[in-house]
Amino acid sequence: METITDMLQSEFVTLHAKFKTVSIIHLKDLQTELSTWQRDGLITKKFYEQNYGQFLFHPPETLQNAHSIIIIGIPQKITPVEFFYNGKRYQTILPPTYIFSEIRTACKEILSKVLGKNGHSVDRAILPLKLLAVKSGLGKYGKNNLCYVEGMGSFTRLEAFYTDYEFPIDDWSEKKIMDSCKNCSLCQNTCPTHCIPSERILIHADQCLTYFNENEGDFPSWVPAQSHNAIIGCLHCQNICPQNKKYLEFTRKTLTFTEEEISVILRKTPREHIPQTLAKKLVDFNINEDYLQLQRNLSVLMKE
Ligand code: SF4
Ligand code: SF4
Repeated sequence: METITDMLQSEFVTLHAKFKTVSIIHLKDLQTELSTWQRDGLITKKFYEQNYGQFLFHPPETLQNAHSIIIIGIPQKITPVEFFYNGKRYQTILPPTYIFSEIRTACKEILSKVLGKNGHSVDRAILPLKLLAVKSGLGKYGKNNLCYVEGMGSFTRLEAFYTDYEFPIDDWSEKKIMDSCKNCSLCQNTCPTHCIPSERILIHADQCLTYFNENEGDFPSWVPAQSHNAIIGCLHCQNICPQNKKYLEFTRKTLTFTEEEISVILRKTPREHIPQTLAKKLVDFNINEDYLQLQRNLSVLMKE
């Protein structure tokens, strides 16, 4: 007889996705691990609050009798970005994992279809996804602290959901680092802010370019001007990684910003006054929440 896991497997294949299932008894372990990072000084209190403060280590009100968490990895592509300003064309990228809305919806539809048919419910889990993916065996850490899933490299969008179905298998396991990292330090040597240490898996996340360009404020003066490489985020350590080689050539359709749209962004025009075409692009590419950071990020890209 076909099990629920078999049915999910056949559905997720259509997205080229992989998944694992863990019991909700491990929510406490996830929370404890993050707190330990802060307690032991591996991440700062400020970084913890900014980046981990939104996690909810309990099922939502709508699913109080949740038993399992499904963690899914879906392959993602780089989005080329072109923009025009003062008659000049600039090219950059949007890293793979920023675009999530369609994927999240597709995952929820599959889960609701399969689990709903069997009388079960599903709701999104707002959890530390990289850690959950590595602890479930879905992926392994790279030295750059990213989660690598077989067949996708680090170009993997992670999503997680609770369900009141109790999966027969609890995939919870020890964290693993890729074997290929043992004799490799390409990401370390390439990182423009030198935030990938040798002695631990956790990077110095509060010195990562992504941390600076996703948040408000000026870039620290010690960040090299030529290190900026994306409209948001940073791909240096993933581009150089041999484990991603196969996936670099796959790209999505180019995201283009016209000269007029760039002027609107550079003027930090209040969101309610931006043209509809620009507003739609920001929403479609899931960078709407980063709108105010784009002015600074584009400015540094144009200076290179
Ligand atoms: S570049 Fe090398 S060390 Fe870094 S994540 Fe990739 S394989 Fe590991
Ligand atoms: S994302 Fe960029 S800044 Fe952050 S660790 Fe990788 S190379 Fe370094």
